[in-house]
Amino acid sequence: MAAQETVEHKYVYDFAEGNKDLKDLLGGKGANLAEMTNLGLPVPPGFTITTEACKAYLTTGREPDGLAAQIEAHLESLEREMGRKLGDPQDPLLVSVRSGAKFSMPGMMETVLNVGLNDRSVVGLSAQAGGNDRFAWDSYRRLIQMFGKTVCEVPGEEFEHALDDAKRAKGTQNDLDLDADDLRGLVDAYKKIFAKHTGREFPQEPREQLDLAIRAVFESWNAERAVVYRRQERIPADLGTAVNVVAMVFGNLGADSGTGVAFTRDPASGAQGIYGDYLANAQGEDVVAGIRNTVPLQELEQLDKKSYDELLDYMARLEEHYKDLCDIEFTIERGKLWMLQTRVGKRTAAAAFVIAGQLVDEGLIDLDEALHRVNGAQLAQLMFPRFQLDHEFQPVAKGIGASPGAASGKVVFTSARAVELAAEGESVILVRRETNPDDLSGMIAAKGILTSRGGKTSHAAVVARGMGKTCVSGADELEVNVPAKRFTVAGQTVNEGDVVSIDGTTGKVYLGEVPVMPSEVVQYFEGSLDPEHIDNPLVRAVHRIMTHADATRRLRVRTNADTGADAARARRFGAEGIGLCRTEHMFLGDRRELVERLILASTDEERQTALAALLPLQRDDFVEIFREMDGLPVTVRLIDPPLHEFLPPLEQLAVNVAVAQERGEDVAKEEALLAAVRRMHEENPMLGLRGVRLGLVIPGLFAMQVRAIAEAAVAVTRDGGSACPEIMVPLVGAVQELETVRAEAEKIIAEVVGDSGVEVLIGTMIEVPRAALTAGQIAEAAQFFSFGTNDLTQMGWGFSRDDVEGAFFWRYLELGIFGISPFESIDRDGVGRLVRIAADEGRAARPGLKLGVCGEHGGDPESVHFFHEVGLDYVSCSPFRVPVARLEAGRAVLTTTGSDSR
Ligand code: ADP
Ligand code: MG
Ligand code: MG
Repeated sequence: MAAQETVEHKYVYDFAEGNKDLKDLLGGKGANLAEMTNLGLPVPPGFTITTEACKAYLTTGREPDGLAAQIEAHLESLEREMGRKLGDPQDPLLVSVRSGAKFSMPGMMETVLNVGLNDRSVVGLSAQAGGNDRFAWDSYRRLIQMFGKTVCEVPGEEFEHALDDAKRAKGTQNDLDLDADDLRGLVDAYKKIFAKHTGREFPQEPREQLDLAIRAVFESWNAERAVVYRRQERIPADLGTAVNVVAMVFGNLGADSGTGVAFTRDPASGAQGIYGDYLANAQGEDVVAGIRNTVPLQELEQLDKKSYDELLDYMARLEEHYKDLCDIEFTIERGKLWMLQTRVGKRTAAAAFVIAGQLVDEGLIDLDEALHRVNGAQLAQLMFPRFQLDHEFQPVAKGIGASPGAASGKVVFTSARAVELAAEGESVILVRRETNPDDLSGMIAAKGILTSRGGKTSHAAVVARGMGKTCVSGADELEVNVPAKRFTVAGQTVNEGDVVSIDGTTGKVYLGEVPVMPSEVVQYFEGSLDPEHIDNPLVRAVHRIMTHADATRRLRVRTNADTGADAARARRFGAEGIGLCRTEHMFLGDRRELVERLILASTDEERQTALAALLPLQRDDFVEIFREMDGLPVTVRLIDPPLHEFLPPLEQLAVNVAVAQERGEDVAKEEALLAAVRRMHEENPMLGLRGVRLGLVIPGLFAMQVRAIAEAAVAVTRDGGSACPEIMVPLVGAVQELETVRAEAEKIIAEVVGDSGVEVLIGTMIEVPRAALTAGQIAEAAQFFSFGTNDLTQMGWGFSRDDVEGAFFWRYLELGIFGISPFESIDRDGVGRLVRIAADEGRAARPGLKLGVCGEHGGDPESVHFFHEVGLDYVSCSPFRVPVARLEAGRAVLTTTGSDSR
């Protein structure tokens, strides 16, 4: 071997040289084959070609120097170990060529089995198998089929058809009835198909077969399906795949042979036990292909007790070793068990919690590790209502679960129809090929959105997630015909008005209305399920892990709540206060009248009268909220939106005035309102007269709110409660704005509070970039900061969410300008930097300055980790997101030490 060439790069590893931590280099499959080999499990010998070789091939378009020689050397040692030579006519060694990237990835080249067979070695293989011609020819026809399909892109159906023809000629439906002669004939037919599509004969040279297969694996990294999948799952595009070359073992040698898959626990529920499928007299790919019916793994005990017991023993050892659910592929060749693959198995959200809990009970992992193994996205999934599925409901299509939830409704095909039916109180599902900005009103009106095209970053998916609406995208079995108002799927036609049900978590689509059941996890958070006394493993696991998250986290979690009812609910979900109580809804409903009077007031007196009428109403609202949040801080934001939002729209007023004039009625008030609306019109309301600007322009407005808050706090405290109000001034950009408001507020507070013992803090939102950049100055006047990351994102990027999310985000995601919408997850580099600057400079100016966040990012897992890193004191999010934030705040503490999550 190339002993002197010390600089030569190592591209090939024997299984004995690798281990499970080398996934970057050897891919998941290769690393785990090595790990099993080193554990002493019976893995057929083989070697792995590294991802680096693949990357080199993909950049230069040819195999890197030294690779061919290294493959040769490792092949030779494999041949020595097996005592056979690749494709030898008398006694051939056969191998499989298997792709395997760091993350398992559908869309890449699958496996080619039986490499090394040709017209001559097929005879040797038969002799090896004791004269089993049938087996040898069956193996050969499989090679041509798999090689043709995956290496040379021959359409797979052609082989399927030829196989069907052979079975028809024989008068059977079962592959096993084809005898050696039939299969020899099939090999001829397959070779013709191969030649027709490739313009060449099926390669007879074993080493050429091997090299072509390896190259095809490399190239499959950039196959379109693989590229699309990576983009969807945010897997980096430059990892490359490894290639595993494994000595063949045969499950198709007769009744004492077979192949199967096994899970060490149920990947759906997490329940302990033995789960898997077994198929006698078959090669690996038959199990997944569903050609014949598999039997439950338990039945292997009757068929081959020795192999069964051995398998159970290995399963236990693998679990103990990986300390997690493993899934396994195995083959039995004439009563001898071979392990062909293992990995830490994928699982549902429920199983992730249940298994983590069980492993703690079993002493295999500690609670930190359990917390590390679940995540907020899984918890959020478990908090949605679920479809109650029995055998009656079978999915008719499966797309991408683009925005979670379970929604049923009547099918509509246009935005207009969605709006119409929704207005009549119907639940509708908007079905489109793909959505575009014109569909926005229909998407708002619909219960759910179903598209036949597009992935997780399509317009439909992005907008639906932004709205928190259930969405299945890219259900490509659907033939959508919008003009005809129908779609067809699985041979059935669904017309406008027919009911469908969509599951935004699994991506499955059902015809008819599937009943929905509430989430046990929500019932638990609501307090109606006692984790100590119910026999529900999921609830017990969630309880346990949440308790640990709470004990671990540094960040506090508050909620955004505007009513007593929301506050109460959030508190049950674990909120430790309110981070954002918006006061504007307190100006709606029958209180609009008072707001109109306020706006139309032409004298101080009129204005004071209107404000005086609003005061007790606001106070009562605050009393209710302070009571629900007894003992916990409540941040109340002074009125934020422009006042014209409380007036009727211009068109409506214009019509009212015209109609009233026609009837000869008194139109003075309408005319005054109309004039006000005209006067207050803004080109850019988002950047207009709102927030603190209103408070400085309209005398008495903030004063009334401050008084209502202080009076409510005093009232609650006098009643024996404890109110801890924090008054938050929105949209501040300069410390002078805050100072002005604060001077007035402090006077009122001092007057109201007296000796009641109530303490009222005054702080500000940081949501204008200038505020973030001058945070050191602003902190002099603020007792706390709360980052309004929605506005900070809008103003940081210079776009308004309502206008842009539907208009171009899909394109930005497609181009990779965004990895994820900056409204979903905080933009660490830009907006996040503003947060960091403000946090650092604010704390430098006022040590101990209380810092929180009240934008929707407060409930986003990724963003919670960021806020933990920046050192905020709390995050605040909608009541439903509170448990997610608690969990992720706990996980954030562990991230520095943890491995990658799944
Ligand atoms: P995938 O990643 O799609 O599961 P695999 O590389 O694991 O692809 O192979 C597909 C099937 O072929 C599996 O059932 C596997 O167990 C089987 N297989 C792979 N290599 C061998 C081998 N050397 N001997 C016997 N069966 C094999
Ligand atoms: Mg496999
Ligand atoms: Mg704001």
